[in-house]
Amino acid sequence: MDIKKAIKHLIQLKDEDFARYHIYNDPIEGRIPSHLREDIIREALICGNEEATYAMEKLGMVKGIGWADLVELAQSLGIQIQFKKCDNSLQYVYFGSYEDSGVITLYEETISKGEALAQEYNIEELKGISLREVVLAHEIFHHIEARKKDLFINSFRINLWKLGPYTHRSRLICTGEISGMAFTKRLLNLQFCPNVLDVLLLYPYNEILAEQLYKEITMSSHQKYILKSHYL
Ligand SMILES: [Zn+2]
Repeated sequence: MDIKKAIKHLIQLKDEDFARYHIYNDPIEGRIPSHLREDIIREALICGNEEATYAMEKLGMVKGIGWADLVELAQSLGIQIQFKKCDNSLQYVYFGSYEDSGVITLYEETISKGEALAQEYNIEELKGISLREVVLAHEIFHHIEARKKDLFINSFRINLWKLGPYTHRSRLICTGEISGMAFTKRLLNLQFCPNVLDVLLLYPYNEILAEQLYKEITMSSHQKYILKSHYL
């Protein structure tokens, strides 16, 4: 795979294209009715955008915020930010994580490595991109998601099974990721979807997985409704 070419292609994709990829990867994807998918995507994107606008208004910003503002925003939300060198997980590359107790962990070494790589590829659109801002913004959204119970992404439920008068309903995982992506993009005034970085930063660790991810994103974006054969 020509990574530069792949990234340039991903940069051109729309938020909705990446959102379809997130839907495709939801653990209960097979249970999401086809006719609802585009509505779910629209609502989840609106949700992320609205929360970003709200956060920017809170900080008195109109057009994107930087690192210091992000830290201020996190503090105002009662988030504790901690730094670690890296994550020991062998299977995935983690740049940040969020715990429901309100703690965000940023993996400094992995982030610095990622930032250096993003510059090394010399891709015009990615010049000056701050990966730590992208990661922090994304994790801040997960905190908002955990605290604001009335958000669309928290209230929307999929009917899983019925037993007498009782219907078991489940929320989706993918909607939080779709909103988080929109939140980060708006908050940092990015010209592309932050998930582009997932492929770029995975590449030096595992070329095969990066190519697979690239293919999955572009394939999901081509198909409006994907029907998978498995059900969870
Ligand atoms: Zn996330």
